[in-house]
Amino acid sequence: MFTPVAGRTVVVTGGSRGIGKGIARVFAAAGANVVITGRDGAVGRAAAKELAGAGGSGSAAGGSVSYVAGDVSSAADSARLADEVLGRFGGCDVVCANAGIFPSASLETMTEGDIDLVLGVNVKGALLVVQAFLPALKASGHGRVILTSSITGPFTGFPGWAHYGASKAAMLSYMRTAAIELAPHRITVNAVLPGNIATEGLTVLGDAYQAAMEASIPMRRLGEVEDIGNAALFLATDEAAYITGQSIVVDGGQILPESPAAMDLP
Ligand code: NAP
Repeated sequence: MFTPVAGRTVVVTGGSRGIGKGIARVFAAAGANVVITGRDGAVGRAAAKELAGAGGSGSAAGGSVSYVAGDVSSAADSARLADEVLGRFGGCDVVCANAGIFPSASLETMTEGDIDLVLGVNVKGALLVVQAFLPALKASGHGRVILTSSITGPFTGFPGWAHYGASKAAMLSYMRTAAIELAPHRITVNAVLPGNIATEGLTVLGDAYQAAMEASIPMRRLGEVEDIGNAALFLATDEAAYITGQSIVVDGGQILPESPAAMDLP
């Protein structure tokens, strides 16, 4: 049995949709005070209301879910987010730097603007938000930074995602140095590397795409957003206090087959 995270303050950037929303749901169910972020206020407020329970502000386990608008690629927005969270809860224990974008562009057609955008949100954004919360994480005594990286970049490649893959691998380099710098403050810095996760965005790609993806995964299903949330929750527990600078792949075994033939079971 792990020590409960109930009552701890947890920030999930990009918690208004997809994987971030799943992470927020898992922490809220565990009784944490969860603050989700995103740029679209209508989507963010609706998600907070949904996660907190129909019309209420408290989760079943006594926590709460609220929303703060902000662009992670802006230092000013990250500072304002930290001010709002500290104003509401007096501190912060866990920062899930999850917000990310994955526009597709071949290397041949990729513009300088495409590269700046992806690196600006995925890498700079993950640095800025953690910087903004450093005083609070140090004061927490059990500060946790949990990055949402990806199997794409650190382990695999996918056409159209040279900039995205580079950004997700860069997050792991950042993680290792931050883990060393922050260890004296008892702050751990780890990453979750999702495989193919069933999010709202995936449904628009259609059933055929989904079936092809499922066939390439040993577990024969896409991941649920809560699969990522559960890994993040473990990294946030007191029992994970000695794990830092590490990454957990959550992909149903997707990176394991050495060739398509490995998926043809006898
Ligand atoms: P998603 O459904 O598109 O959600 C992205 C979230 O990030 C939204 O809440 C979005 O809200 C927010 N966001 C985007 N740009 C932002 C910015 N500049 N500032 C603040 N918030 C921003 O994406 P997802 O699939 O859940 O992906 C979440 C993370 O998981 C990303 O880091 C992604 O690289 C990673 N990942 C996803 C998968 C997958 O299968 N889905 C696999 C591996 C890794 P707004 O648009 O309102 O700002």
